[in-house]
Amino acid sequence: MLQKIKLLLRTYYGLEDTELTKMEGYESINYKVRCEKGCFVLKVYRYEKNAIRMISTENEVLRYLESNSKLYPKVIPNQYQETLTYDPSFDAHFFYRLLSYLEGEFMANSIKSDAVLMSFGQTLGALDMRLKDLHPIEVMAKKIPWDLDHFLMNESLVNHINNHEDKKLVQYFFLQYKEHVWPHLYSLRKSLIYNDANDWNVLIQSDQISGIIDFGDMVYSSTINELAIGITYALMNEDDLLNKAKIIVHAYNSAYLLKLGELKVLYYLIAARLCTSVCQSAQHKKINPESDYITISEKGAWRLLQKWLEINPYKAFEEFVKCCDLSFELVNTTSQIVERRALDMGKSLSVSYQRPIHMIGAAFQYMYDAEGNTILDAYNNIIQVGHCHPHVVVAGQRTMAKLNTNTRYLYDELAQYSELLLKHFPSQLNKVFFVNSGSAASDLAIRMAMTHTSHEAIAVIKHGYHGNSRLGIDISHYKYNHKGGTGKKEFIIETEMPDTYRGQYRDTQVAGRLYANDFIENLSHCPDLAAFIAEPIVGCGGQVPLADGYLSNIYPEIRRRGGVCISDEVQVGFGRLGSHFWGFEMHSVIPDVVILGKPIGNGHPMAAVVCTQEIAESFANGMEFFSSFGGNPVSCAIGKAVLEVIESENLQANALQVGNYLSKGLNELSKKHSSIGDVRGSGLFIGVDMVEDALSRRPNTLLAQHIKNELRERNILVGTDGPFDNVIKIKPPLCFSFQNSDILLNHLDDILDQYNG
Ligand code: PMP
Repeated sequence: MLQKIKLLLRTYYGLEDTELTKMEGYESINYKVRCEKGCFVLKVYRYEKNAIRMISTENEVLRYLESNSKLYPKVIPNQYQETLTYDPSFDAHFFYRLLSYLEGEFMANSIKSDAVLMSFGQTLGALDMRLKDLHPIEVMAKKIPWDLDHFLMNESLVNHINNHEDKKLVQYFFLQYKEHVWPHLYSLRKSLIYNDANDWNVLIQSDQISGIIDFGDMVYSSTINELAIGITYALMNEDDLLNKAKIIVHAYNSAYLLKLGELKVLYYLIAARLCTSVCQSAQHKKINPESDYITISEKGAWRLLQKWLEINPYKAFEEFVKCCDLSFELVNTTSQIVERRALDMGKSLSVSYQRPIHMIGAAFQYMYDAEGNTILDAYNNIIQVGHCHPHVVVAGQRTMAKLNTNTRYLYDELAQYSELLLKHFPSQLNKVFFVNSGSAASDLAIRMAMTHTSHEAIAVIKHGYHGNSRLGIDISHYKYNHKGGTGKKEFIIETEMPDTYRGQYRDTQVAGRLYANDFIENLSHCPDLAAFIAEPIVGCGGQVPLADGYLSNIYPEIRRRGGVCISDEVQVGFGRLGSHFWGFEMHSVIPDVVILGKPIGNGHPMAAVVCTQEIAESFANGMEFFSSFGGNPVSCAIGKAVLEVIESENLQANALQVGNYLSKGLNELSKKHSSIGDVRGSGLFIGVDMVEDALSRRPNTLLAQHIKNELRERNILVGTDGPFDNVIKIKPPLCFSFQNSDILLNHLDDILDQYNG
């Protein structure tokens, strides 16, 4: 082959005594040619009519560009003044073209100093300014997955990505592209663009761009895609991402003015280019496991994609706008929203933190506020599988676009979801009723118990909370016994929270039984017990796990008295506890009725009551049970998607591992800071009891409030609760990571250092 090429170079290009070195190539075989006349690049292409047309067009573009710039390869014509050499008598399978060789270091191997980034942005802007006057028909007809206008061509490739963490990230950005880019696609400026400013195509000399090579990926597309691609590769393996991106945007804008609409989509286009790269790599690896050419930038792309998620997209937009000297108006400021709330809503609606947060977006364990911050969510108990999880969002979107009706009609989603949900329960819990909130579920559960037993009395644990309906408040000591509450109703039997930290019995070996004995004693005065309701870990009581042996001693007694045992799993259910899918399993009991809410729909308003066949049957006493929204197809599709994600992403196992890690870290901190009195809970349902001193265990409400607000200032969300509001509640989305835990632990440590210091 080499001899033949040397012959070709001599015969067609008059180059004698050439020295050939093979170079990297994707669509062609490339050789560096060295001889007396200088350095060249010979590109060898497999012969095809279309390829000839495409490469000829590429040559025309290069000749147009080279007319006033040294940055682009010169097309060297053969002795017949043709820009391509094809001679079937010489070789029918290949055709050739010769280009000048550009000196310089690949940007991939260079330090990307501010000067380099500036020169890079400026070069791309100037290039697009020149290209905008060309309209080559061959390129205009091209449709390739590397064109960000056709990004969605890559969507089916997501299935080649094996790692679920990676996959969900890519799916998330597909979703964001559809939301933020696709609707605006037709209003974005279109032009011929180079489309491949990756750092193996860009050459650098003395901190300036000295060459741009390989125009094989040119497309006629949204002009802004050029900049997005350039930024993507310039940021690969870098830190301080947004500032670096801004330098490039600013420089590009100085050569070719950008428009506001283009800056609006830029953040998402950068993510889209990264997703294209990893999708293409995933496919390539399946087809061609040995080759590493296309997967060359894969690791860097994954790393950048993860870091990109941690950048608030609205902040990116704002910064891009600023560096182009453009302006836009924020719809509402935080203080305006606070004022509006006060005007429109009752004062009983509270708002968290001394300085309220104006949320404008979220992704998995991160939330984005209007000030441009990215906030780590260590508190959201509702978003079980992560904010805006694409599998859940798409399930909802698709079903909503197809059918939404109620349980008086037949549709597949209800049956599919009920079957899947009930698989997570012991066989005797085999009937499910759907409603729209935890409150509606606890209300229904109590009604069912009353109907089933024909009794009225309900036993509750002090400091428990079960809902905001009339009946919900009646059974929630946390409400009726606090400010604005009207006290205990006659049909309520209260019992102490079986708390082994601050309660009456603290010996964990026997406390459960002792608390149970007291409770049973209490019940002896009650002739008409309908139900006993409890959370397995009392959330509003300050994340207090029911003492060991408590439920297993009480349940038989409740049943002996004709009552029904209800487990409120609204906060703890769906794998959050790590060791168990449901809280009652932790106590080795099986309730008669289970209440589900919050995490069941990952933020979509749905809830359910699961019960035994006998209870469901006695509830069917002639009165219809109907909920307009409960069990509708959209909710069912969402609920099913949530269960699928918990399973496919092993979120229960993650809750166990990360939860244990976090609890261990908190326990370590408690050795250093005596104000941490107790760390309790299970998996990613943790309470940190702040005290004045470890000995007295006196609650330190002020410190807990200080920590909550200080963490908020540091962009981390936690809550506080408990009878003294001194327990820090940590219950993040189950995708919370070890690294997220470290961030939380380090800040907590620092806050306590400063508080004490
Ligand atoms: N039960 C428990 C244990 C809860 O924590 C809550 C809500 N905080 C409810 C029931 C009521 O749920 P919802 O707010 O969905 O009505």
